[in-house]
Amino acid sequence: MRSLQSEIERRGRRIFELVDKHPESLFSKTGFYQRLMTISMRDEQLKLQLFRFVDVLPSLRTSGEVVEHLQEYFAEARDSRKLSEFLGAGIRLARIVPWLSGPILRWNVSEMARQFIAGRNSNDVLQILRKRRTEKIGFTVDLLGEAVVSETEADQYAARYLDLLEGLARETRTWTDPLGKNSELFPVVNVSVKISALFSQISPEDPADAIAHLSPKLRPLLRRARELGAFINFDMESYAHKNTTLELFKTIFTEEEFKDWPHAGIVTQAYLRDSEADLRDLIEWGHARGTRFAVRLVKGAYWDYETSKSRQNGWDCPVYLQKPASDANFEALTRLLLENESIVTSAFGSHNVRSIAQAQAFAEELGIDRSRFEFQLLYGMAGPIKRALVDMGYRVREYCPVGELLPGMSYLVRRLLENTSNEGFLRAKFSENVPVEDLLRDPCEILRRNRNGVLPPSNATINMTTATPKTQQGVPYENAPLTNFALPENQEKMRTALREQRKQLGRKVPLTISGEKIWTDEMFSSVNPSQPDQIVGYAAEAGIPEAERAIAAARAAFEKWRRTSFEERCQLLERVAEILERRRFELCALEVFEVGKPWAQADGDIAEAIDFCTFYARQMRLMGRPRLTQNVPGEESYQHYWPRGVALVIAPWNFPMAILCGMVSAALVTGNTVIMKPSEQSVIIGAMLMEIYEEAGVPPGVLNFVNGKGSVIGAHMVDHKDVDLIAFTGSREVGLRIWESAGKTREGQRELKRVICEMGGKNAMIVDSDADLDETIVDSIYSAFGFQGQKCSALSRLIVLEENHDRVVERLLGAAASVRVGNPEEPGIVVGPVIDEAAYRRILEYIELGKSEATLAYQAKEVPPHGYFIPPTIFTGVKPGMRIAREEIFGPVLSVIKVRDLDEAIEVANGTDYALTGGFFSRSPANIERVKAQLEAGNVYINRPCTGAIVGRHPFGGFKMSGSGTKAGGADYLLNFLIPRVVTENVTRHGVAPEKTPEYRDEFLWPKQ
Ligand SMILES: Cc1cc2nc3c(=O)[nH]c(=O)nc-3n(C[C@H](O)[C@H](O)[C@H](O)COP(=O)(O)OP(=O)(O)OC[C@H]3O[C@@H](n4cnc5c(N)ncnc54)[C@H](O)[C@@H]3O)c2cc1C
Repeated sequence: MRSLQSEIERRGRRIFELVDKHPESLFSKTGFYQRLMTISMRDEQLKLQLFRFVDVLPSLRTSGEVVEHLQEYFAEARDSRKLSEFLGAGIRLARIVPWLSGPILRWNVSEMARQFIAGRNSNDVLQILRKRRTEKIGFTVDLLGEAVVSETEADQYAARYLDLLEGLARETRTWTDPLGKNSELFPVVNVSVKISALFSQISPEDPADAIAHLSPKLRPLLRRARELGAFINFDMESYAHKNTTLELFKTIFTEEEFKDWPHAGIVTQAYLRDSEADLRDLIEWGHARGTRFAVRLVKGAYWDYETSKSRQNGWDCPVYLQKPASDANFEALTRLLLENESIVTSAFGSHNVRSIAQAQAFAEELGIDRSRFEFQLLYGMAGPIKRALVDMGYRVREYCPVGELLPGMSYLVRRLLENTSNEGFLRAKFSENVPVEDLLRDPCEILRRNRNGVLPPSNATINMTTATPKTQQGVPYENAPLTNFALPENQEKMRTALREQRKQLGRKVPLTISGEKIWTDEMFSSVNPSQPDQIVGYAAEAGIPEAERAIAAARAAFEKWRRTSFEERCQLLERVAEILERRRFELCALEVFEVGKPWAQADGDIAEAIDFCTFYARQMRLMGRPRLTQNVPGEESYQHYWPRGVALVIAPWNFPMAILCGMVSAALVTGNTVIMKPSEQSVIIGAMLMEIYEEAGVPPGVLNFVNGKGSVIGAHMVDHKDVDLIAFTGSREVGLRIWESAGKTREGQRELKRVICEMGGKNAMIVDSDADLDETIVDSIYSAFGFQGQKCSALSRLIVLEENHDRVVERLLGAAASVRVGNPEEPGIVVGPVIDEAAYRRILEYIELGKSEATLAYQAKEVPPHGYFIPPTIFTGVKPGMRIAREEIFGPVLSVIKVRDLDEAIEVANGTDYALTGGFFSRSPANIERVKAQLEAGNVYINRPCTGAIVGRHPFGGFKMSGSGTKAGGADYLLNFLIPRVVTENVTRHGVAPEKTPEYRDEFLWPKQ
């Protein structure tokens, strides 16, 4: 008997022979598409621009816009010859007769899209399906569409699926199975469904909620499919949706009504490291259910997305990083599927001849008839391979996307990327003419050789470490990863932590001064804003005497602390980071109770606190040593830093751990002693930070914890002669008072007080006429309503160019209506309660004001009856001069302002007192450049949400009335806590100078480093 490998090769060669009989191939097409492919494969940079241009083109309205974009995208094309090769007459015409070039390019792109998109609707697609029928190729139809951002859109999608199903069933009533054997396993009508199209609010942290919403939408479709004898397949999307899709599949097909229905299928993505475990679990489920089901095995279409997303979040990458690893896993899973043929019907979704031949050979080895499984390939790709498989007597089904060009753009761009990928089989075979023996090589063998260093590693292999820029002595800074709540174990940890925290409700916390725990007569209660009758904890309240004691303690501890080596201080911060990490879920859960943060937002806050500790420790090491200013013979000049003295840290409740910990850590690591005063609303979290610092070993008096009314002890300490520095984050009103008060010099004061003052914002995002609306809507909703709009960075004004206004508003209102409002103890909540009754009343007053000034376009109707829940609210027709457009509201209220053009948009955006965050959604390179240069904001975000700054990556802070221009989490932040000093010595004696001057001199430090 021949070995499996030689059998695979034999079959592979046979497929290639058949393929070569029909010379037509993907890359032999002439015209626009072929030019695009050729150039894209030669020049990565140009490829990116070309694909971006293709992406924006359908949304451009006039030829003038097309020409402008064309010129903007390719203004810097280094090789204009290549470009005109691609654009051909397009670009020349663009210059001469702009009105003509728009339609030509649009036509070209439409033609290209038609290559991959089978039609606009079921009528269109039927012509294609009929043709395929004559070629003995079956079909599965998929509906393309805009990203679903609201439940209205999801319902429309569900209706389209039903229509499609009805239409296909009606038109194919007389069609029979192409192989005429085992046809009961393969209904003629096959529809592929994406769950993200049926529910707009899938939250990876709450699969149960998604399933509860998706099931009622799916049941009518499944019921009808069953009546019509059709097949329904669940496609697989990004990793975040994977577990939900699997759970949904198993749950719904275990229901009594569908338990014995065999015509359901799901997708397994072989590029996922956990795909084998998932597939085994599915098979086990199938056996327990006792009815056949189907699996389409693919490699996976979101490789680039998954790798960059996991790198951004610091997560383990869920996909294999070497292409042969995905190929090898595909083969292993092929075996697993075929070995379980008794319960699962396999569909192999691949264009890779090696993968296909392996499935054939293994099926043969197991004696499985070729009519009992199928090969599936995409519409518009690998036609000759489909034909070859049909000729060999195999079952072939084509995956046919249906939909309009604009919504189908992301599908088109995915196909273009796949076809030009360095790693892709089709490119290797049809464009680069890689020899057959290489194409048919065993992927396990390639992996083995890669490991032995015989073959170079795969081009696309990402080295997670070297890909990050090196910024400190060759060591890249790494942020603490966010918790991936898509993983069930993390969901469980959070639930457990919430249960544990609930048991701790009502705890009492003391003041800490000079290491001593101090209880006062007054106790302050902190309540759960979701349930104000629930007390999270009680904190001892400091009066003026305790404030005085704390200042005295900090002053007394200063001399020793300033002389403690910076290395020791850095290590203290690092120990704090470790403890924060260890207690992460506990602290997240506490935030849910004390400030109403949804899970992921609470986790982001703790992650940021960890980052502040590790980042500032790192920065301090960089600047801690006295450094030579200039190398000149005969003179040595060293700059170094002294701490300022006693720092008063006054923090807000909205980032109760991160901001408090950030300011405290910066002050401590630079050698200052600290009095920390958390917000009254988040005092228990503040007390936890004190506890953590003590566990990490902060010496008595170096960090003191006082809690009390800002207007009493806060104001007293700000004015105190012994306080040298005030780090404040909070409202403009308090900030300006501190700024003014600190400007007065008091009797006995040693230093001019330094004030680090971060205040509010009235943040605007501009929506250009060519913006990607899927992205715009999702990001705007998240920026405006995430954590109930209580971030200083939150979006408050959406400034929309008039061409897009009506469509943006329509989709925005639908999306707002679909956002989940509720108690954030539940996973997946987007909008929880606002912090307290005062905030609640103030925001409601603003909403009333808004009703009188503008048009109330949307307000959520259902919010929990108890607790400080404000319904997400959107005003339209807002004018820049209105109060709701000028004043900070700090709640889930969004104003939409319509403008004529970008000039007006920028003027409106800049026309407030604030300059904190701002953003722009656009696909025009020229407009993006302009906004980057002109938007008045400390943090400008393009084509992404305007919240969620990450330490080190997005140093955060604004100017104008938003702050004093400091950047938390930035390289220069620590300078605010330090006094620079320079010591210069003439080192010549009788004209003789030392030959060498050291770059660092440590003798200015105590003790010596
Ligand atoms: C009928 C059909 C239905 C499909 N349905 C889905 C679906 O529901 N969900 C889905 O996600 N995809 C789906 N796909 C797409 C599929 O996952 C692949 O993207 C595509 O088919 C390319 O794989 P290939 O075997 O044809 O080509 P090949 O060229 O052999 O493989 C390319 C694939 O290898 C993987 N890869 C590329 N580079 C690397 C690397 N450096 N390290 C590791 N792996 C790498 C990627 O998955 C890439 O798509 C479907 C494909 C078909 C044909």
